Amino acid sequence: MWSFFFEPLEPVDFVAGQYLNLTMPGVPPAVSDRLFTIASAPHEPLLQFTTIIGPSHFKQKLNSLKTGQEVEADQLGGDFTWEAVPSALSNDGVKRLFIAGGIGITPYLSIIRYLIHKQQPINATLLYAGKNEKRPFVEELHTAVEIDPTLIIKEYSETRLTLEQLKKDVPNVEHYIVYLAGSQAFSEALGEGLIEDGFPRQQIKYDYFDGYVDLEY
Ligand SMILES: Cc1cc2nc3c(=O)[nH]c(=O)nc-3n(C[C@H](O)[C@H](O)[C@H](O)COP(=O)(O)OP(=O)(O)OC[C@H]3O[C@@H](n4cnc5c(N)ncnc54)[C@H](O)[C@@H]3O)c2cc1C
Repeated sequence: MWSFFFEPLEPVDFVAGQYLNLTMPGVPPAVSDRLFTIASAPHEPLLQFTTIIGPSHFKQKLNSLKTGQEVEADQLGGDFTWEAVPSALSNDGVKRLFIAGGIGITPYLSIIRYLIHKQQPINATLLYAGKNEKRPFVEELHTAVEIDPTLIIKEYSETRLTLEQLKKDVPNVEHYIVYLAGSQAFSEALGEGLIEDGFPRQQIKYDYFDGYVDLEY
């Protein structure tokens, strides 16, 4: 798992949690594009992207870029952000449950970095699942908790984060807006499970990392 840092040639006006489409130079158009969450926060000078280097043409090219090489980025978007909460719930008392499977931590990282920078209480519980080697930024997240104790983190490396485990650890889950980020299998299992249990669909926000359909988190 690696992070790549790019200097934007013009300012990128993004909200923490949003993504960009990157186009790798010299890669056939059919496989040259991938969406990536911007893992850095809007106040940081470089754009950070964190990913798993697999065998795809795209990733191999990304991994072989030399300092100074240019990459195209477009399609800035996404509402997996701190502010975009369902209108019925948007008030100051809203509680957020951030759920991440492995690499799905990237949007939360941006949000947490941004709120710490703004000195705004995070007021969220983060459930972070994945084997130890598949959960990046754990140290930085622990530091974030020290800086802002309104951030609570529960980690799942030995125990799996199943729906049952989630309900046990967050017994009043219905009071939260649930954010889900990670492989499609991970996010769907938890999200659809909650909905089958009667949890309101509009209280769930998804960030599917396509391309990681079957990834074991
Ligand atoms: C909103 C969003 C945010 C994301 N953020 C991150 C992130 O922060 N870090 C990260 O590592 N990944 C992120 N992803 C996933 C990322 O876009 C790639 O799909 C993933 O990294 C796998 O890329 P790969 O080249 O290794 O996949 P491959 O091994 O090439 O792909 C696996 C399978 O997915 C298909 N596939 C994957 N991407 C595309 C595409 N763009 N177009 C067509 N088919 C595709 C392939 O055809 C193949 O069947 C995000 C995805 C989305 C939608």
